[in-house]
Amino acid sequence: MELCLATEELSRACGAIALGFAGTALGTYPILLYGNDEQKKRFLPDIAKGKKLAAFCITEAEAGSDAGSIKTHAKREGDHYILNGTKQWITNAGEADVYTVIAITDKAKGARGASALIVEKGTKGLEFGKKEKKLGIRASATREVIFTDCKVPKENLLSKEGMGFIVAMKTFDNSRPGVAAQAVGIAQGALDLALDYSKKRVQFGSPISSFQAIQHMLADMATQTEAARALVYATARMVDSGAKTISKESAMAKVYASDVAMKVAVDAVQVFGGYGYMRDYPVEKFMRDAKITQIYEGTNQIQRNIIAAHLIKESLR
Ligand SMILES: Cc1cc2nc3c(=O)[nH]c(=O)nc-3n(C[C@H](O)[C@H](O)[C@H](O)COP(=O)(O)OP(=O)(O)OC[C@H]3O[C@@H](n4cnc5c(N)ncnc54)[C@H](O)[C@@H]3O)c2cc1C
Repeated sequence: MELCLATEELSRACGAIALGFAGTALGTYPILLYGNDEQKKRFLPDIAKGKKLAAFCITEAEAGSDAGSIKTHAKREGDHYILNGTKQWITNAGEADVYTVIAITDKAKGARGASALIVEKGTKGLEFGKKEKKLGIRASATREVIFTDCKVPKENLLSKEGMGFIVAMKTFDNSRPGVAAQAVGIAQGALDLALDYSKKRVQFGSPISSFQAIQHMLADMATQTEAARALVYATARMVDSGAKTISKESAMAKVYASDVAMKVAVDAVQVFGGYGYMRDYPVEKFMRDAKITQIYEGTNQIQRNIIAAHLIKESLR
């Protein structure tokens, strides 16, 4: 809930600044959920104090939605894992000190052949690609994370070998309400701007806020944002209550709030008319920032797949 509230408030001003924070939560969840006491003591205090950022690395050039096809490989040699491969589009990459990485440790075992490792910045063999030029959330660093014979101490394995995809999926279950909160904040920020502008912009001798067409747009934007917020808070409370199965609800919050953010931000630009299309005004940024919430931490198509799979499974009980 606290993660959601902070992410929402930051996103109301800037979705990218919020992502520095929320991306750190994403990178930290594997340690919170699966770290042993020693790992938690070593890594969490500095992250909690804001001294260090974290990043989560699963995506690769050929493995996005189909995370099971990752190729990054970790081979155990004595007291270390030797990590090789390239992760793509990693939020906070280069800025973060702590990287939680999903890599294959036993190809023959398929989905049970991946493991999660903690890699610290400064480890030999860890490098970063160039900062990507993006449509939105441009203040957030997105880079490749490149491992070349990167020697990671065996003590940095999270849980057990073979648990990598479970670590990843549970991480997303917990972090998706944060993306949903980012979406609510972006929607609220866009609505704030549109409402303010509608009172100042005069056409036909009246502020455009006096036209019913504009009033109805604002009313729908506010109602949709409030509905998304209610769903996100309910999901966050459910997660905090320790509920065991949260995948469906997390996916619902993410899919609904991000679709609302996109719609509200597009409508906010419409309220601004041609000025909304100009970079001179901040509202177009909200539209560009909103789009990413429908894509990362699993696209909205994938969220709908998850929701439907749960619905069908539940109906068979
Ligand atoms: C700015 C940014 C930051 C990111 N940060 C991180 C990060 O910190 N860590 C990290 O690991 N990754 C990160 N990602 C990666 C992100 O999670 C992936 O981009 C996302 O999961 C989608 O994968 P993809 O881009 O390869 O799309 P693809 O998987 O290639 O999908 C392309 C299209 O096909 C659809 N599709 C694919 N499979 C199905 C299916 N089975 N059913 C229906 N539709 C389907 C998708 O919904 C999408 O519309 C980031 C991405 C971006 C753009």
